[in-house]
Amino acid sequence: GGADMPVVIALLNSYSGLAASAAGFIILNNVLIVAGALVGASGLILTGIMCKAMNRSLANVLFGGLQAAVSAAGADQQVQGEPHPISPQDAYFILEAARSVVFVPGYGMAVAQAQHGVRELGDILENNGAEVRYAIHPVAGRMPGHMNVLLAEANVLYEQLAEMDDVNPIMDAVDVCVVIGANDVVNPAAREIASSPIYGMPVINADRAKTVLVLKRSMAAGFAGVDNPLFVKQNTRMLFGDAKASLQQLISEFKES
Ligand code: NDP
Repeated sequence: GGADMPVVIALLNSYSGLAASAAGFIILNNVLIVAGALVGASGLILTGIMCKAMNRSLANVLFGGLQAAVSAAGADQQVQGEPHPISPQDAYFILEAARSVVFVPGYGMAVAQAQHGVRELGDILENNGAEVRYAIHPVAGRMPGHMNVLLAEANVLYEQLAEMDDVNPIMDAVDVCVVIGANDVVNPAAREIASSPIYGMPVINADRAKTVLVLKRSMAAGFAGVDNPLFVKQNTRMLFGDAKASLQQLISEFKES
């Protein structure tokens, strides 16, 4: 399963450290032993944290892909329903009325380099009286901490960042959840469809917000290649287009009003 890749990468990285440490013993080099042990240990710790975040055992992550091929026929369910596209003007009206907003960034935000636009829109919403948070999934993006780095680059305040476990219990009370180029990490199939390859992986429950605004270019699947029922839910509105361009349009709407 594609969603398991970061765990495998972290594990293989830790092996490289252990190999370096073993080489240090052979050539009697203390620096190599210590540095290799540090890389090996930190890689193993990261592997453990990511497995915990996915609610899976390491053995299941490593060998679960073999069973996935067998059950693929059942898992390949097409998502039923039509998406509800929305224009930037209508999305502006929804955001303008919101009192609490949660941004969920994903890999698409990195592709579009939209982090500065996200911060700018977040600031505008705060000045408009809304409470703004940024919810970060442990495997959002393409490397651990990917979203944290990008949001820090855009000077998003650390206090506004929220972990998945902190934001999920309050998602029902959130007026608008703005999903920016995220897909797998907000896929409710992980909760609802037992035959889905990502079933059991904890996700950010964006679908439980009163309104969900999804910024992406098409209905294409994310890294794991799994359809996402979030995009056709009744409370979801799809703002199609490059995330940076869509954010700029929303910011312009606020500035013009
Ligand atoms: P996903 O890969 O699931 O989805 C990213 C989405 O971004 C796509 O559906 C794409 O849709 C959209 N997108 C791409 N370009 C743009 C753009 N310019 N503007 C707007 N949207 C865009 O990302 P997530 O962050 O939700 O999930 C990460 C996935 O990567 C997980 O499956 C995770 O396991 C995996 N992974 C994570 C690693 C890590 O260490 N964090 C490492 C390796 C893999 P569209 O094409 O329609 O625009």
